[in-house]
Amino acid sequence: MIFASDVMTLNNKDEVPYLTYNALDEISFIKHCFSTRLGGVSRGEFESMNLSFGRGDSDENVTENYRRLCQSAGLEFDSLTASAQDHHTFVRKVGVNERGIGIYKPKDMQSVDALMTDERGITLVTYYADCTPIYFVDIKNKAIALAHAGWRGTAGRIAEKVVNAMKDSYGTDPSELICAIGPAISKCCYEVDESCCQHFKAMDDLNTEAFIFTKDGGKYMLDLLEVNRQILIKSGVRNENITISDLCTCCNSELLWSHRATKGKRGGMAAFMCLR
Ligand SMILES: [Zn+2]
Repeated sequence: MIFASDVMTLNNKDEVPYLTYNALDEISFIKHCFSTRLGGVSRGEFESMNLSFGRGDSDENVTENYRRLCQSAGLEFDSLTASAQDHHTFVRKVGVNERGIGIYKPKDMQSVDALMTDERGITLVTYYADCTPIYFVDIKNKAIALAHAGWRGTAGRIAEKVVNAMKDSYGTDPSELICAIGPAISKCCYEVDESCCQHFKAMDDLNTEAFIFTKDGGKYMLDLLEVNRQILIKSGVRNENITISDLCTCCNSELLWSHRATKGKRGGMAAFMCLR
């Protein structure tokens, strides 16, 4: 397996590997990472680092995988709090009272596609296998958020909803946000049909030519990372404060879980972020 990225680093690659963004590593008051499919205990189609509960893997294996990833990346297992993703755009504010939810305590909400906090002692967790993760760090108010943006969440402008929720809760000025988008399935591999693409053609305040590429047969290649970048900029985030991952999940399916590359027989990865 060859690893090559200009914006991310593969850490601890001989044991329990995890990715970090070089731009986010420079922010001293946070910890963050993105898992890979390597270094876990799961077997069969989940081999080996599966961080998705409820896909048929045992809860014991998934929990052990979380423990391993936390130990490798220097995160506190007890502080983890997960989303409850269902491709909507609800943003949940969490704190230390929500530690463990969705990991070692039951989910208590049905629809949470973004998490945010300004408290120490809680680690935000969202999960992926082609959909787009978005990291948000307010460097002035020391608040953070993670969003899960598949095509539905992207079309529903979850990135803008997170920026607005951070404004309301933490007084965030979007120009003080540092953001990272991905890893996700990218324009090289993300083919969609007309019924999906029409949601993006309708985004007439954005430069659609930069993210919709017409193919033959009524199909399109869609660049969801670029859609999310443009939505962030419309929301007031500065372009130079946005990093876009250059790792397509589908092109790098030995390293990363891809729903498309595995035809759905897969485990899941997770994004993690906490305040130090
Ligand atoms: Zn690709």
